[in-house]
Amino acid sequence: MTLRLPVYMDHAATTPCDPRVVEAMLPYFTEKFGNAGSRNHKFGWEAEDAIDTAREQVASLLGCNEKEVVFTSGATESNNLAIKGAAEMYEKRPAGETGRGHIITCAIEHKAVLDPVKRLVKEGFDATFLQPPTDGVITAEMVRAALREDTILVTLMWANNEIGTINEVPQIARLCKDRGVIFHTDATQWVGKMPTDVEKDGIDLLSFSGHKIYGPKGVGALYVRRRNPRVRLVAQVDGGGQERGFRSGTHNITGIVGLGKAAEICRLEMDAEGARLSKMRKRMETALTHAIDVSQINGHAEKRLPHIANISFGFVEGEGLMMAVKNIACSSGSACTSASLEPSYVLKGLGVGDELAHSSLRLSMGRWTTDEQVDYAIAEITKAVHKLREMSPLYDMHKEGIDLSTVEWAHH
Ligand SMILES: *Cc1c(COP(=O)(O)O)cnc(C)c1O
Repeated sequence: MTLRLPVYMDHAATTPCDPRVVEAMLPYFTEKFGNAGSRNHKFGWEAEDAIDTAREQVASLLGCNEKEVVFTSGATESNNLAIKGAAEMYEKRPAGETGRGHIITCAIEHKAVLDPVKRLVKEGFDATFLQPPTDGVITAEMVRAALREDTILVTLMWANNEIGTINEVPQIARLCKDRGVIFHTDATQWVGKMPTDVEKDGIDLLSFSGHKIYGPKGVGALYVRRRNPRVRLVAQVDGGGQERGFRSGTHNITGIVGLGKAAEICRLEMDAEGARLSKMRKRMETALTHAIDVSQINGHAEKRLPHIANISFGFVEGEGLMMAVKNIACSSGSACTSASLEPSYVLKGLGVGDELAHSSLRLSMGRWTTDEQVDYAIAEITKAVHKLREMSPLYDMHKEGIDLSTVEWAHH
C-alpha cells in the first residue's frame, strides 16, 4: 500500500474527529435541532436529554458527578473561567487595589493559562511562575516552597503539550487541599489519554477540550468541584444563566454531543490505545537517537504521555529541518511570533539552548497512526538531518574532536 503524504504526526495540536463521534452528532444539526432552553416542547426536551447524556459520558471519564461538568467552547475558555473566576471569587482585597491574592503557576504552561494569569497580575494579583527543572516535571515540593499565606490559587497543567511530560498533579492537589488553596489543572493533553479520577485525586477545577480527544473543535468542559469544598467562580460570560450560571449562552448541542461521545470512546479504549502509542513513541525515540548522533529527547524519559515525542538535533538549522521534513506534519521548536522565529519558550524554559530549541521536532502520534507511518518518519528525519549536516562546517569540526565551546566566535 502506498503511504498518503504528508503523514500526520501532530496529534498534540489537534486530532481528527472519530467517525463514531461525527455519526452521533449528525442528527443534532437537522431533525434534533432544538434549544435545551425550550422547556415546553419535544424539540427542547430532546436537546436537554442529549446534553444530559453527554454530561454523564464526560463525568464517567473524569470520575465526577455530572452536576460538576460545565460545558464551554474549549480549553482556553475553561482555563479563563477557572483562573479568573476563582481569583475574583477568592480575592483578599477588592478590584482596583494591589495585594488581591497570590497565584502559583509555571513558566511552561500553555498560553491559555499564562495569559489569564498575566492579566490578573495587571489587575492587582501577585503570581509566581515556577521555573521547571531540566526534565520539565513540576513536583509537589516545588509548589510547597512557593506557597504563601496569601496564596489563593494554584494552576498547573497535568501534562505538557510541547514535551509531553507529566507533573505531580495528585500530590500537588493533595498539598493544596491541606492548605485550603484552590487547585486547577489544565488537563487538555491528559484527559482521554490517561485514567482520570478528580474525586480520588482531590482536584478542584479541571479543563479539557474536545478536539484533542478525537471530538469536534470549539467545545470543551470545565470540571467544578461541588463538595469538599464547593468551589465558587465568578462567571466570565453573563447572559441566560445556562450551565448553572457558570457559562451563559445557548448550548453548542452538536459539539456537546460530540464531546460526550468522544469521552466515552476514550474511556473504553484509552488503555489499549495508550499501550500501542507508547510502544510506537519509544520505537521512534530509540530509532532516531540511535541513527542520529548529537540528538536528545526533551523532557523526562519516563514521566511522559504515551504519544508525544520531542527531540532536538544538534548541528542542523531549524528552518532547514522543517523544510526537509515537510512530508511529516509535525511541530517545530520555533514559534512564529510576528515576523521573527522565536525558539519555543517551553524548551527554553527547560534550559535547552536557542539553537537546539530551533532544531527540535514534536512528533505526536494518534488513534490512526500506523507502523508504516512511523517507519517513514524515522527514515525521512534521519535522511534530512544527515543531509543538512553535510553542509555544516560546525558538524565537521565536532567530528574532528574540536570542543566547540572553546572556540572563540567573531561577534557581529
Ligand atoms: C490545545 C490546548 C489548549 C487550548 O485548547 P482549545 O480547546 O483549543 O482552546 C489549552 N491547553 C493545552 C495544554 C492544550 O494542549
